[in-house]
Amino acid sequence: MSTFSTIYPQLPIAELVQRSLTTTDAQLAPILRRGHATSLEDVAALLSPAAALQLPALAERSGELAQRRFGRAIRLFAPLYLSNECVNVCTYCGFSRTNQIPRITISVEHAARGTSLLRARGIGSLLIVAGEHPKFVSNGYVEEVIRAVLPIMPDVSIEIGPLETPAYVPMVAAGCAGLVVYQETYHEPTYRAAHTAGPKKRYRWRMDAAERGLAAGFRRLGIGALYGLHDFRFEALSLAAHADHLRRTCPEVQLAISVPRLRPAAGEFQPDPRHVPGDAEFLAIICALRLFLPEADIIVSTRESAALRDRMVSMGVTTMSAGASTEPGGYSDFEQEAWTPARPQPGEQFHIADERPPQAVAEMIRRRGYLPVWQGV
Ligand code: SF4
Repeated sequence: MSTFSTIYPQLPIAELVQRSLTTTDAQLAPILRRGHATSLEDVAALLSPAAALQLPALAERSGELAQRRFGRAIRLFAPLYLSNECVNVCTYCGFSRTNQIPRITISVEHAARGTSLLRARGIGSLLIVAGEHPKFVSNGYVEEVIRAVLPIMPDVSIEIGPLETPAYVPMVAAGCAGLVVYQETYHEPTYRAAHTAGPKKRYRWRMDAAERGLAAGFRRLGIGALYGLHDFRFEALSLAAHADHLRRTCPEVQLAISVPRLRPAAGEFQPDPRHVPGDAEFLAIICALRLFLPEADIIVSTRESAALRDRMVSMGVTTMSAGASTEPGGYSDFEQEAWTPARPQPGEQFHIADERPPQAVAEMIRRRGYLPVWQGV
């Protein structure tokens, strides 16, 4: 089967964006009656200004579909940042090579300690994150961390620079369940402008990383786009197409879709307000993706505010991060008796918006009639 990077250029994404903008109530009505989306044309209609006026009904349907597949449950996880060393220049990232920030790569022992501190706060699912660096994040270091944290943490995924399939194999063998690779933006000219140096410039190679991970044996694949780099309808439609391709390629794999909105970061990056969806548009994206991909995990991170995340519990989201730090070694504060929520740190990737500790997020989920699930899937 062809890889997504060979199929994607043939897809009429820009045309679908235009069609979305002119969708009428009459065109939307059959999709709303059916209660799910069966094509990218349907997704375009669900991202339209006309659909935005139907948000309460769409949110209810989205919540129903998630419940049917996942129950009244929200899975919690936390990222563990290993290193902010990176050879890439990504204009929107605090770790970008040209930013003057304190650089650190934590030891395997430090990673295990941070994992224990997260476990003590209930977290059972870990996402290992690292910048891309051939000197600091290489030579079996990530595999060693995976092996060190798995006796402590039942479920581990990775989000690191894309690799070839053989390089992923030892990570799967070490027990890592999931691979996360965001395309960041599917719009190639924007991608080129946002990634000006380093191996990340390879747009198509990055696009096929999930499939290389599939070949290596990961049983969970996470994909996503960063909202704020290019038109949000273009990104959501492209992401839907990518997920559709992966589910056809391997129906057994558990897909996870992330919808991160960009946040300010070191390097004075500010997201382009023309491209950042507002809250209502952001919720509409989640509903459109849920109606098209009822079997996919939909993940919302602590980039979003506490108030918005609270609303999302019943709107089709199935996984949330909680108590997150985006700084390598950032969980050391947990060792202090009176842990206070994370403060902005010079070595972090971006500063989170929902600063509540994991137990407070779990409490909120319970209050809304859902079960917080600490263990991974
Ligand atoms: S987004 Fe990833 S690759 Fe780019 S600078 Fe940040 S850590 Fe490095």
